[in-house]
Amino acid sequence: MIYGKMFETAKNRVQICIRNGQIIRPMDTVCVICAKTGHLYSGLSHAGMYRGRLTVTHAEPEAIQNMLAFGEKQVEAVLLMNSYNFRTLLPCKQCIADILALDEENKNCHIVLENTIVPVQGVDKFIQDSINQSQLASAQVPVVSAGSTGILRCHPFR
Ligand SMILES: [Zn+2]
Repeated sequence: MIYGKMFETAKNRVQICIRNGQIIRPMDTVCVICAKTGHLYSGLSHAGMYRGRLTVTHAEPEAIQNMLAFGEKQVEAVLLMNSYNFRTLLPCKQCIADILALDEENKNCHIVLENTIVPVQGVDKFIQDSINQSQLASAQVPVVSAGSTGILRCHPFR
């Protein structure tokens, strides 16, 4: 199953960082893109000072660049994972827009989450449904909030 392989690739990427002595922070993410060809491309988020401000680049731009470097543009599925706790996240609107802009066919790609696969065009509906469901369950915090996907600033292709 390709999705299992995506999870494995994401975790391996983080474990290599840990082995190299890198400290994983709660804000760090890892992205794995499965191209139409079945090839997997990964990327990590990066935090650094940029013009005197702490700036975080999302993991998706690096995964996209790795894919483009191999001449691929068509995306089958995207996995975004918190490197700290290995929980899946929805990519932010900016990163989704970047992926859609790569190729017309990417409107048919999917976002891979722990328990489900969300069509990229159904992300907004998925967020709304999650909020509704958690309200029904009288939980205060939605399962997936837009805030949890957009907390980091995006500076792709800088
Ligand atoms: Zn993003």
